[in-house]
Order: sequence, then structure tokens, then C-alpha cells
Amino acid sequence: MRLENNQKKKRTKWWIALGATVTILAGASLGALSAYNWSPEETIEGLFGTSATTSISQNNHEERSIDEDIKEITRTDKDDDAPIDEPAEDGDTVYPDEPERTPETLEEPIYVKDVLIANKQYPLPSGYAPGENPEARAAYNEMQAAALEAGYSLVAFSTYRSYDYQTDLYNRYVEQHGQEEADRFSARPGYSEHQTGLGFDIGAEGQEEHWASDSFKDTEEAKWLAENAHQYGFILRYPAGKEHITGYQYESWHFRYLGKDLATKVYNSGLTLEEYLGI
Ligand SMILES: [Zn+2]
Repeated sequence: MRLENNQKKKRTKWWIALGATVTILAGASLGALSAYNWSPEETIEGLFGTSATTSISQNNHEERSIDEDIKEITRTDKDDDAPIDEPAEDGDTVYPDEPERTPETLEEPIYVKDVLIANKQYPLPSGYAPGENPEARAAYNEMQAAALEAGYSLVAFSTYRSYDYQTDLYNRYVEQHGQEEADRFSARPGYSEHQTGLGFDIGAEGQEEHWASDSFKDTEEAKWLAENAHQYGFILRYPAGKEHITGYQYESWHFRYLGKDLATKVYNSGLTLEEYLGI
């Protein structure tokens, strides 16, 4: 399978890169090398559940974090034949050069028409740490039960992420892919919808290989979510072909809780949240 071959190629490249690093660091202490490798436990506890950790670590004998693996699969998909949205050219979908507000200067989160908003133009205060929203969790549980009735076993593998966690995650992606590319799929700290406690990354149980990957969109679970999530209060936040509006590539797994009424209105409008709110 192409993906597997690419993964092998990627792994080969990774080992070459690691080999080069080891050579470069030959004179340095082992401590430098372990700093290069991220602690899987740390990453997994923050972004993924323990069950996912186990299954992925069994499949990989390398000291890599689970989200590196997942993101690498995503990038591999995109490199080949997945439709790629053009990088945003519109000034509204990139980080402003001279922002009026920053996570460091902002005191309160911003609501537009009573909707808490987090995107590249509307950061959250760095100290804003509400945790996972209980109403969103209850709605998710209801949706999960309904999906199970329909034969699909959903897993919310990443929900609330703190400012500090997002800092680590984003910095790592910048190291791996460069800032321009990282900005297309990972939020800078203070700009992530996951910090609101209302963003849910959803996958299918037992299909970890599709988590946070382009390939999720072709699963039955993704199709069920795309058609039904609004009935439980969630919208597909970053739809295909809307990178120039949302600032992010298509993420078939990322859902935002809005409540049933608003989610249904946004779904029926066919608009992104930004368009619907007129921002
Ligand atoms: Zn997400």
C-alpha cells in the first residue's frame, strides 16, 4: 500500500535524520540526544488516552510520540494525492503582523454574537484555562451513544488543551515542518480552539491509524459525524475548501460545540463559523 511505503520511506528518512543528529551530537552528552526525542508519556497524557498509546507503541518500536506518528501520516497523505487547499492569501486567515490583541495582553476571551471565538484573528488570553466544557462533554456523550446505536464507536481523542500544552505541541511542529507549514494545521498557543474546552477531535475506536489524519474522512464514522453532529450541538469546524476562510486545512475529525440550535443553524446555512458570524 502506498501509504505504508511512504511511511517506510518517511521512517527511513527519520532514521537518517536521527543518524545525522547522533553524528553531530557525538561529542555532546547523551542528555542532548534524549532532549531531541520527546517523551511519549508526556505527549500521550496531554493529547491522547492511554489505550491509544498502548496500541500505537506496539506498532512502533521507535521512541516517537503518538501525535508525531499521526501527523506524519497526515502529511504523507497530503504530499501525494489528497486535495490540498492553497495556503491562505487572505489577510483575515493568517496571523496579523501587528495584532491588536495577543494572548499575553488579552484579559478576557472574545465573544461574537454570544459565541466564544478562537481563531487566528481572535486569540484567547494565555491564562484562560476553563478545562473541558461539561455541557459539550454531555452533548458528546449523547452523540457517542447515538453513534453506537447506528453501529459506530466514537472516541474523543483530544478535547481541552491548555495554553502550555499547545505551546509544546506547536513548537514541535515548527521544528519538524517549519512555521509556515505548521501554521496550516496547528494553532499557535493562545489561538487554539482546543483551549476553549469546546473543540473535540473525534475518531473511531480501534482505528487509531485514521485519527487526526486525512484518511478519517473516508471512514463511515466520519460520514456519520458530518451528517449528524449538528443534531447534538457540534459543527465540523474546518471544512474542505475553506482554508481561505477558517485559516486551517480540512480537518474531518475536529468538531466545535455550539449547542444544538446554533449548530443546526450553521449546518443548514452551509457556512463556516466565521462566515456565519460575519467575522
Ligand atoms: Zn482539533
